[in-house]
Amino acid sequence: MKKEQYLGVSVSPLTYDQIINDMKTRIQAGEQSTVIAVNPEKVMTAQRDPLVKELINNSTYQIADGVGMIIASKLKKGELTERVTGVDMMGRILEMAAAENLGVFFYGAKEETVKKAKENLEAKITGLHVAGYENGYVKDQDVLLDKIRQSGAKIIFVALGSPRQELWIRENMPKLPDVKVFQGVGGSFDVYSG
Ligand code: UDP
Repeated sequence: MKKEQYLGVSVSPLTYDQIINDMKTRIQAGEQSTVIAVNPEKVMTAQRDPLVKELINNSTYQIADGVGMIIASKLKKGELTERVTGVDMMGRILEMAAAENLGVFFYGAKEETVKKAKENLEAKITGLHVAGYENGYVKDQDVLLDKIRQSGAKIIFVALGSPRQELWIRENMPKLPDVKVFQGVGGSFDVYSG
């Protein structure tokens, strides 16, 4: 897959549509994918923190979340043309999930926030099935993993802040083989709960 490099950090020069199409192909092939948002601040953090760099570079899609990435791409005559924000990418994945009849799971944020985000999004996106949700302050990870498995969700959005959510995804992806898409979404549940 095409990538651009910014100080050793990979970014996908892809539009929302291109990512969704590629993701659908990977889901059909039974492959797991991860989505991470990259902005100039994260590129700088990656310079001093090898773990952050590794978490970004090992993701499937590094979306260019920040106009600074587009400017940087223009300067080096790259192919990034539009911002791909974490919150809008989540919206596009939800629309795809509704169209393809794939269950989704929301993990993270405060209880009332994640619950309201689920309610608002189900009201907004016809056919969306939020198979389950859990707030980001639960203690028992085994119970959480069972809840995710039992929900039958194929896509999970994790909102624990960075890099915590990315570490959670890396640790738990092998334990959730039926989940095919993992996106770390930071404050997106807060946005959708409003
Ligand atoms: N959060 C959580 N559990 C924690 C710490 C944070 O669920 O132990 C949630 C918090 O409630 C908020 C989100 O993670 O909804 C963090 O959003 P923030 O905007 O700080 O993330 P960023 O995008 O800046 O990484």
